[in-house]
Amino acid sequence: MPYFDHNATSPLSPVAREAWLRAQDELWQNPSSPTRAAARVRNALEAAREKLAALIDARPEQIVFNSGATEGASAVMAWLARAAAPGAHIALNPAEHPCVLESAGRFFANRIRWLPAAVSASEWETENLKSQISGAAAVAVMAANNETGFIHPWREIAAACRDARVPYLCDATQWLGKLPGSGLAQSADWLIASAHKFGGPKGVGFVKIADQAESFDSHAGGAQEHGHRGGTENYPAIAAMVAALEDAEARRMHLETERLRWRAGFERAIVQTIPGTQIVGQNLPPEERLWNTVTLLMPREDNTRWVAQLDKRGFQVSTGSACATGKGGPSHVLAAMRVPPDAAPRAIRVSSSWETSREDWQTLATAFAEAAQALHAP
Ligand code: PLP
Repeated sequence: MPYFDHNATSPLSPVAREAWLRAQDELWQNPSSPTRAAARVRNALEAAREKLAALIDARPEQIVFNSGATEGASAVMAWLARAAAPGAHIALNPAEHPCVLESAGRFFANRIRWLPAAVSASEWETENLKSQISGAAAVAVMAANNETGFIHPWREIAAACRDARVPYLCDATQWLGKLPGSGLAQSADWLIASAHKFGGPKGVGFVKIADQAESFDSHAGGAQEHGHRGGTENYPAIAAMVAALEDAEARRMHLETERLRWRAGFERAIVQTIPGTQIVGQNLPPEERLWNTVTLLMPREDNTRWVAQLDKRGFQVSTGSACATGKGGPSHVLAAMRVPPDAAPRAIRVSSSWETSREDWQTLATAFAEAAQALHAP
């Protein structure tokens, strides 16, 4: 049955699975051991670092493998807070993922300055924005939002940060694997990401560290990852992550236009069959919304009832971010996007993958229509 919760996690892609199994069978030794077999793992690890770096235009020594974006956010925030001038603030997008918001809260406490939630490319050139980021310890704005698919103009943000001499932290977790990674690392000083959003395994990801951040560390003793992160590297998972990203970059990116059409067909069908349904960000130009994500505001009923109805029919969708779902409470992202508080509990996020077909979108629209009928039955 079609799965529509890819922004929460994706299944392991076939190439990632193959790479993982091969590494698990043949290159399972501890890369730090003094044997020849371990040296082969060490070499393979460095080759994986080079491949990943090339995909995002970074240098291999800037890639630090870790457990994913949550660990990355925490380690980068800790480093930024240590490196900052005393009293310097951090400029934050209020719709960041909780892992960025909470680690900023922990390390910068009352030194957070909130940016507007959806700043267009041209606004990053305005004096108002420039004065918000001037003197900051860092600016944190994600590349693409996990709940709404809203795309932030990271090239322009990077240019504004460069002009202001402020480091730019970009959470690329939802961007990588969906849109080309080239140029990302040259734009953002710091990048964080997780493999399981693009067909790699869970519990593995990376940080791309800034220039002059040789002293970056993840607070765990040990000299692994060139001294940036202690703990035995999970080479099989790293090999699988790199294979998944290489595959997405090599075979998928040109399919975006077709996928946008299929999603638009789904949106039209839903609005027609369930009048009163709204689509968050529908009026944005296509380049400002991820091709795989739709956030619907249903005209009535709590989103959990819609999710349950769809689940019964074999379709997995979400009420928002997996983290917001785990914690309950209204979505801070929708609030930042000015979705009225009474509409937020009716929000449903649908997120597809490259494997999702046109028929999958069509059958999902039919399932929504059936769910509407079931929910409105006396
Ligand atoms: N950043 C974004 C934009 C995300 O969507 C997620 C996961 O939902 C994360 C960070 C955290 O990723 P992980 O749970 O793999 O650490």
